[in-house]
Amino acid sequence: MARDVMHVVASKSWWSGTITTACGLKVDSSETNSVWFPSLSGNIKCPACMAAHKAR
Ligand SMILES: [Zn+2]
Repeated sequence: MARDVMHVVASKSWWSGTITTACGLKVDSSETNSVWFPSLSGNIKCPACMAAHKAR
């Protein structure tokens, strides 16, 4: 793991396995074992994701 930045998952395509984060990042879920939840403390949170999450 190079980074432990936590992104907020906006949506996940179960058929393709692609995760879209609140900051617009698209990640293949097969490439990461990270559990991306904003409620987990102790991790660096992506500021763009947190801003987008609060703006909802
Ligand atoms: Zn993010």
